[in-house]
Amino acid sequence: MFSNHVTNDLSAYCTGELTAERNREVAEHIIACAQCRSEYDEIKVGVNLAQQLPVETAPPEMWSKIEAALQSGPAIQPSSRRAFFWRPQFAAIAAAVVVVILIGVWVSRNRQIQPAGPAWQVATLNGRPTIGSTQISGRGELAVGQWLETDQNSSAQINVASIGQVQVDPNTRVRLVATKPTEHRLELARGQMSARIWAPPRLFFVDTPSAVAADLGCAYTLIVDNSGSSLLRVTSGWVALELKDRESVVPAGAACQTRPGIGPGTPYFEDAGAEFLTALTEFDFDSNPAEKSRALTRLLQTSRVKDTLTLWHLLTRVNGDERRRVFDRMTSLVDLPADVTREGILNLDSAMLNKWKEKLEFYWVSGTVDPKAKKDLKSGRPFSLWPKLKEAVRNVGK
Ligand SMILES: [Zn+2]
Repeated sequence: MFSNHVTNDLSAYCTGELTAERNREVAEHIIACAQCRSEYDEIKVGVNLAQQLPVETAPPEMWSKIEAALQSGPAIQPSSRRAFFWRPQFAAIAAAVVVVILIGVWVSRNRQIQPAGPAWQVATLNGRPTIGSTQISGRGELAVGQWLETDQNSSAQINVASIGQVQVDPNTRVRLVATKPTEHRLELARGQMSARIWAPPRLFFVDTPSAVAADLGCAYTLIVDNSGSSLLRVTSGWVALELKDRESVVPAGAACQTRPGIGPGTPYFEDAGAEFLTALTEFDFDSNPAEKSRALTRLLQTSRVKDTLTLWHLLTRVNGDERRRVFDRMTSLVDLPADVTREGILNLDSAMLNKWKEKLEFYWVSGTVDPKAKKDLKSGRPFSLWPKLKEAVRNVGK
């Protein structure tokens, strides 16, 4: 499927050396190609590490020690000279020298290619938004650390480096936290913003008071209210909402709420039934264990095949008998893949959980009918293949 992998351009992509057009081609390829994406992830880790290393000059004693070690050479018999080079001390010094040289080369190379002042272009859409304490009309620049604020009559659009756009709606406060080749980060303190990002996964982040939204190649809307709670609605691709060890992965058509002190709730499809949605909110954010348990029963009863998005996330958030009930409801809706066992899932075997998720993603993304469920995913009504087959045959004849 992919004849033109972008492997050769990945490190240049990571350090911002490509032209804007090539940058976008590489970004789009990485979103679709798992092979290049995994290579990119590895390169990104290396670049991140190198960026955090301070540049140090080697102390003079180090060189004199190396010289002394080399000058002690004549004392070593030719037959044992080879042994000298394999001594641990020499190997350690040699390795340190190589690392210092490599870091030096990397840093000096990247000094030249980094863009000068990190700032994002802002265009006014309505009214007079402010950047810092200055009102802007037309265009402006948002530098790292600065706040962009809109009142009830103003809105703005931000160009996120070369990787996407963010629309800032009225009554919103956002701050540019960081912008570098391996990470672009905004903070949304309150209000509403919509993002459209065409970068590879995990390059664009939005901090909110109760979770971090990590872009996985997507378009989405994020709303933060005055209490610090937020609502994420994804319109294309995937977004991950994270707080500490809790992660909710949200595909297009789905949404997820967050609360201060709790973090991300469980993701759900917005076309789920009203009873399912009410029960899920109670389960996620009610503090009374008995209420939670009753809510879980109701949401399991009213779940559809597509709602396995919610149930899959619940597997790791409930224990004991509740986990068994979630599992049983899931397997009544969809089959377990080969090599995935009941015992493995109940023990939260991460490889098995991921394998099952990969199979479920097909239903989440395509909305395809699962034969086992015999229900139409859109209407939730019992589904029969026969009328569709007849219709298809009729259409072929036309
Ligand atoms: Zn590729």
